[in-house]
Amino acid sequence: MRIVLLGPPGAGKGTQARVLAKRLKFPHISTGDLLRQNVSAGTDLGLEAKGYMEKGALVPDELVNKMLARRFDLPDVKSGFILDGYPRNLKQAKALDEILKNISSGIDLVFYLDTSEAVIIQRLTGRRVCKSCGANFHVKNMPPKQSGICDNCQGVLYQRSDDNESTIRNRIEVYNKESAPLINYYNSAGKLKSLNADGEAGIVLDEMVQLIQA
Ligand code: AMP
Repeated sequence: MRIVLLGPPGAGKGTQARVLAKRLKFPHISTGDLLRQNVSAGTDLGLEAKGYMEKGALVPDELVNKMLARRFDLPDVKSGFILDGYPRNLKQAKALDEILKNISSGIDLVFYLDTSEAVIIQRLTGRRVCKSCGANFHVKNMPPKQSGICDNCQGVLYQRSDDNESTIRNRIEVYNKESAPLINYYNSAGKLKSLNADGEAGIVLDEMVQLIQA
């Protein structure tokens, strides 16, 4: 099954994608994670992407599309995948359609995680991420058992440099302008399922699982 998670920053796409991917045994492909890996490794792509990411702007389509096409060359995507953070605009949605056409498939389901601005700000300003396994925590909503340490792998938790209030507001603006039109794009294609993602992650996950099994 080929699934896309759509929604504003802080909607819980990464958290949900990680759990869904584990349950369904599909790879979780996050363009944000792939870009951050490139930034940490100091690759040419990472060096180009860094400035855009720090401002909360989109990394140019050519760079992200090329990176994603390379990821789709790996054999593990053949049976399905959970895509998180891509597409981010209509050009990317069309590029994705082309990449999938090349492997004779298409997207099956798009979950739109509808989230209010107050919830987004609260979630992202308190978010902490594991440096080793990428698991997400929250200082209030989901604190780790030991402060600063990942419950799953004992890795060190850090705060993403773009999780500060002014960059978050810019990311929301970019989302509304660039990414929100994707809701209509996938709705017109009959692939969109909308969910209210303001509530608990477990409830949203159960709803998604039910829709996948329907
Ligand atoms: P995320 O981890 O999805 O919140 O993404 C973090 C940042 O990476 C975004 O604010 C963008 O700067 C960049 N990014 C991630 N995915 C994309 C994409 N599909 N297109 C352009 N930029 C992206």
